[in-house]
Amino acid sequence: MTVRLTPNLVRMCGTDAQPPRCVALAGEIGRAVQCTIYAERPSPCREFDTEHEACQRARRYFGLP
Ligand code: SF4
Repeated sequence: MTVRLTPNLVRMCGTDAQPPRCVALAGEIGRAVQCTIYAERPSPCREFDTEHEACQRARRYFGLP
């Protein structure tokens, strides 16, 4: 589910795609989605909060409030 960037750093597959979509995300954006590896999600996902600018940008991208 990851792409190795450096010996110590990986990125979730799909997060660099256009449009970005993490391979671990299931469901339909704007309706119902869930992280299929939530308990094992990587540290950047644990550090995000729902008010993070990247989250706001993603909502705008998909036309969500
Ligand atoms: S929380 Fe992280 S691992 Fe889970 S779907 Fe979102 S980006 Fe992917």
